[in-house]
Amino acid sequence: MCIFCDIIEGKIPSATIYEDDKVKAFLDISQVTKGHTLVVPKKHFDNFLECDDETTSHVMKVAKMLGNHILKETGAKGMNILTNVHEVAGQSVMHCHIHLIPRYSEQDALKVEFQESEKQDLDALCAQLQYK
Ligand code: 5GP
Ligand code: ZN
Repeated sequence: MCIFCDIIEGKIPSATIYEDDKVKAFLDISQVTKGHTLVVPKKHFDNFLECDDETTSHVMKVAKMLGNHILKETGAKGMNILTNVHEVAGQSVMHCHIHLIPRYSEQDALKVEFQESEKQDLDALCAQLQYK
């Protein structure tokens, strides 16, 4: 059982702002900021990295379209666009979704902060991560 599949099938109501044959976008119940929206593929994938390429490109296209639309309609000054993969990254619903989180000020209820971290050997890391 997946709560987003239930929303997509209409078993659970949602405040839907956009829908087509592949995607549904509805207001996040938490509204971390006003207009916080989830863009969700109708086909179940556990997370973004599991999505097939066709779904990925359509979801991202809709996320961009709605991101611009929400900015315009809310008057927000910016937006965080993010997706969490696995619990360690904060994923709580195991059905792929993109968060569109309009930003009104740096004091909004969301904080994305890159903190000082352990130094890495970039040459070694680059050799390891080089995609062939
Ligand atoms: P995650 O933590 O997986 O990145 O995000 C899941 C999001 O789904 C959360 O922001 C949470 O508020 C939202 N959410 C969970 N259950 C429901 C629901 O029943 N309806 C709506 N609209 N949003 C939900
Ligand atoms: Zn699902």
